[in-house]
Amino acid sequence: MRYLVISDIHANLTAFETVLKDAGTLGKDYDFVWCLGDVVGYGPDPNECVELLRSMPHLCLAGNHDWAALGRLDIRTFNADARKALTWTRETLTEENLAYLEALPITFVLDSFTLAHGSPREPVWEYILDPLIAALNFKHFETTYCLVGHTHTPVIFKQIGNEGECEPIGPAYNQPTRLNGTRQIINPGSVGQPRDSDSRAAYALLDTERMIWEFRRIPYNIKAVQARMRRAGMPERLVTRLEHGW
Ligand code: ZN
Repeated sequence: MRYLVISDIHANLTAFETVLKDAGTLGKDYDFVWCLGDVVGYGPDPNECVELLRSMPHLCLAGNHDWAALGRLDIRTFNADARKALTWTRETLTEENLAYLEALPITFVLDSFTLAHGSPREPVWEYILDPLIAALNFKHFETTYCLVGHTHTPVIFKQIGNEGECEPIGPAYNQPTRLNGTRQIINPGSVGQPRDSDSRAAYALLDTERMIWEFRRIPYNIKAVQARMRRAGMPERLVTRLEHGW
């Protein structure tokens, strides 16, 4: 099976469409979509992104912004800008799309892969930002590989030894790499709001027959998204951060 692995679309339809185009054709270049959560929040196109995702064969996990849009989380724990965007998102989402988000699972296991938005230990909330937090998470999943999003930064944390110690490996784009059986926590990065100082949309391709992982990056029309955000009255800080990639 060939998967398109995406995360943190954050209601950015332009980035999402650009990623889909770059990934190729469904059924020819990939068969199924794994989305690691945060389909909405921050961006101007929550309904459009949910509907585009729903139009494809996919599995999507719940992210903290998806839950916050449902009112499942206390949005006082989000910063002021995120809160403003979330209130707008909640008012904008259709009943049908809210019901879709409502039904998303928080973890998923298939063959040698465990999927979660944040971490296997705290699926909706925890940020795996460094090797220490990654190391602590290895005992919280049984499979060889774990795919996560949430930090908006593409990275692999590879386990060394049995003590859970691990090594961070930065992404090498467009270089298909063999998953060699070493336990790893892998983050494809964010489609709609990258935070690694690279404004291009991030995603990955995974072939589970050949066990090949490939990080990808693609520029998209940021200005078009920013214009829609300004029209929707989104906080300026959220608008400008897209072009800086943080
Ligand atoms: Zn996110």
